[in-house]
Amino acid sequence: MTKSQSHMETQSVWAGEGKKLYDNSTQVPVFHSVSYSYDDLDDWHDVALGKKKGHIYSRNTNPTVEQFEEKVRILEQAEATTSFSTGMAAISNTLFTLLSPGQRVVSVKDTYGGTNKVFNDILPKFGIAVCLCDTTDHELIESEIAKGCDVLYLETPTNPTLKVVDITRLTAAGKAAGAVVVVDNTFATPINQNPLTLGVDLVIHSATKFLGGHADALGGIVCGHKSLVDKIFNFREITGATLHPMSAYFLLRGMKTLALRIERQNYNAQKVAEYLANHPKIEAVFYPGLTTHPQHEIAKKQMRGFGGMLSFAIKGDFESVKTCMTHLKYAYRAANLGSVETIVGPPRTTSHVELTAQERQRAGIPENLIRYSTGIESAEDLIADLAQALEKVNVQQAVEA
Ligand SMILES: *Cc1c(COP(=O)(O)O)cnc(C)c1O
Repeated sequence: MTKSQSHMETQSVWAGEGKKLYDNSTQVPVFHSVSYSYDDLDDWHDVALGKKKGHIYSRNTNPTVEQFEEKVRILEQAEATTSFSTGMAAISNTLFTLLSPGQRVVSVKDTYGGTNKVFNDILPKFGIAVCLCDTTDHELIESEIAKGCDVLYLETPTNPTLKVVDITRLTAAGKAAGAVVVVDNTFATPINQNPLTLGVDLVIHSATKFLGGHADALGGIVCGHKSLVDKIFNFREITGATLHPMSAYFLLRGMKTLALRIERQNYNAQKVAEYLANHPKIEAVFYPGLTTHPQHEIAKKQMRGFGGMLSFAIKGDFESVKTCMTHLKYAYRAANLGSVETIVGPPRTTSHVELTAQERQRAGIPENLIRYSTGIESAEDLIADLAQALEKVNVQQAVEA
């Protein structure tokens, strides 16, 4: 099944499926087998050399994991994919594969907290220069790329303030400098955005979030040119950050409703953002679907939908954040995002807990910010819930305190 033959709703369900795997089962079995037995030793040798299709050892490949990879490959319109135990494993293994001492990576300040730690604490230890630019200053990013860039690493929309970077524009600059261009597409999902079609070399997902969509399995995946993905796969074979087949099964099952969930989450987030934007106790709302969003035009150009993630700053201090959050009935106060349930969290305890208060301030993340991952509930109920929670917030008191 290829991209041109079907729509994303159909691909979510059918891509990579339909292979007869075991006793005509319609669902992929969870292959818990560590290894695969060969009576014909020549066959075994051919599979080991990659001359024949098959599996040898599950740290390297596994049929359940492969089916998950295939579904994402088709949805991202990629030539190849390889998966990982977590999103961070996908990100770190990709960067370690691509970069060598003496090289330089250019990225933005607003990457995911864990990614930011890789840039600030790990890569410099291996003699890799890291340049983190102001996320929305495209001229600055272009000028830094021109100074020398082996990897251009982007994330859009960003976590947690939903900034949007122009993928086409920066990819052109990266290509001109001879860089490999990588985009973390976790927030957008392949339903809303396909960076590979905009010229990007590699797309990464934390499958833990929207792809799985049910907060019951961790996973990561890299998609792109076969030549690059093969190198990353070979690196992962050795580092061993393999996706577990049970997790692959959960992620696959979740992905069958991906298009359906994202359509609802896009809708809900837009409604919630519009409601909050007009609320007197709200200082600012960050959502690329709002016409007031500074990069709304860029978002419109490169995204089919604006996603399920938003964040908002409450008037007042952290007490207001606590009051609002604890009074929400239809939301988990938790560290993840992208699930069917609405999830809220302050960046200081979720995405950017690894950062110090000072680092968060430098990254432009206000302490009175709430990250809101819209679930698939009724938008009407979510808005009513926010209304009653915000009613409990005493802005005056919070400001005076
Ligand atoms: C969660 C997240 C990651 C890390 O993924 P894990 O599966 O938690 O390791 C990376 N990037 C973004 C944008 C994320 O939201």
